[in-house]
Amino acid sequence: MKPIDLRSDTVSQPTPAMRAAMAAAVVGDDCYGDDPSVQQLEARVAELLGKQAGLFLPSGTMANQLAIATHTRPGRAIACVREAHIQVHEDASPARLSGVQAMGLGDRYGFGAEALEDLIREESCGWPRVELVCVENTLGLAGGRVWSQAELAEVRACAQHYERPIHLDGARLWNAHIASGEPLSKLAAIGDSVSVCLSKGLGCPAGTVLCGESTFIARARETRHAFGGALRQSGVLAAAGLHALEHHIERLAHDHRHAHQLWAALGETPHWSARAPETNMVIFELPERRDAERLCRPLREAGVLCYPNKYSEIRYVLHLGIDDAAVEQVITRTRAVLDALG
Ligand SMILES: *Cc1c(COP(=O)(O)O)cnc(C)c1O
Repeated sequence: MKPIDLRSDTVSQPTPAMRAAMAAAVVGDDCYGDDPSVQQLEARVAELLGKQAGLFLPSGTMANQLAIATHTRPGRAIACVREAHIQVHEDASPARLSGVQAMGLGDRYGFGAEALEDLIREESCGWPRVELVCVENTLGLAGGRVWSQAELAEVRACAQHYERPIHLDGARLWNAHIASGEPLSKLAAIGDSVSVCLSKGLGCPAGTVLCGESTFIARARETRHAFGGALRQSGVLAAAGLHALEHHIERLAHDHRHAHQLWAALGETPHWSARAPETNMVIFELPERRDAERLCRPLREAGVLCYPNKYSEIRYVLHLGIDDAAVEQVITRTRAVLDALG
């Protein structure tokens, strides 16, 4: 029995066509600014997002941390959604690498302008100044929920009023684009800087692009080298990204449809319940704060690879490695495990 891997959308394999594009890439030394494929990718993503410039980076974590380092100074704070990737999944890097404190607002479904204003109004002696506001779209911990554009517009107006820049962690902005039908440039307009991952739904082996104003990106480029993120013939990776921009954005609709199918079949059981997914993830919530890992283990043994989302939640993530037949298999295997539990 071949396991079906729903642990993350990072587990997908590069397709044969993507590998062919990588093999054919024209490359140079990007550290010297010589790699035409990297330059093409940076320009293309910046154009899609409506920003002046882009910077190719090995990972989304580096992009977010580089944005924080470039926007802030040590001893200050950043505001972000409570349990944002930046706050809880990047190994305390705002504190480690930039010397800033991450202050969580709202809940995992977002925060409003009022919460941000309340935080800013508290600034005084000993209370660090919020140098940067971070938002996330889609919201990862919330199962890939699309943050409402109306709420984000209010957050942006508030941040502008107090002259605080915004960084948008758009690791899965592609999914927000497909689910909402809004143009990428409109979704990206919320951020002074925006990071988008190529290694999740788009199916590349690695890579994130950070975009923003040219002066911001020039400063981030210097810090990229300091963070160890300046690569050499990274055009082989950029070529995968260019291929994915052509071929793997529209197909995200299939992942969203698959997530919806899984939710329709498995969303309500005696063992868990789930909200309707908006994008490519289904989050099953276990009752009574039960340990989700105890259910993930038999699921993995039955060939459905999955992990907890939080202590009492299980996450199924759809991606380009999962076809219609695999979705059927996931339903059959999951039901068998749940039935055996009684
Ligand atoms: C995956 C992810 C990141 C970081 O990406 P890596 O490439 O794994 O470092 C950042 N933010 C969000 C919301 C993510 O889901």
